[in-house]
Amino acid sequence: MEIAIIAHDGKKAEMVQFLNEHREILQQKNINLVSTGTTGEKVSKAGFQVTAMLSGPLGGDAQIAARVAEGKCNMVIFFRDPLDKHPHEPDILMLMRLCDVHNVALATNPTTAELLIKAI
Ligand code: PGA
Repeated sequence: MEIAIIAHDGKKAEMVQFLNEHREILQQKNINLVSTGTTGEKVSKAGFQVTAMLSGPLGGDAQIAARVAEGKCNMVIFFRDPLDKHPHEPDILMLMRLCDVHNVALATNPTTAELLIKAI
């Protein structure tokens, strides 16, 4: 199972805390983590194996969207910051749209992320 972890800058600390709280589940052998570039650095520093794509503004969200479209990515946990502007908003919308097109589980806030992780 492939899980994408993405966090906007204002949510990266919360994302790391979330990973630490769910370490046991997220480090299961059958789970592969992928991330956008800068998020991936934080995920890796927190002690997780992760495949990092490009940074979000440089196309990382689009790369993860492609994985969703290709059936490679089964869940997206996206710590979005709704109070900030993002130059790559079109890519973010594309990622969320493709999750809906392909019926892939998508969490865009910590409460939903928690529920999804507990369902694994
Ligand atoms: P980042 O990208 O992990 O490279 O910061 C996240 C995003 O803004 O989509």
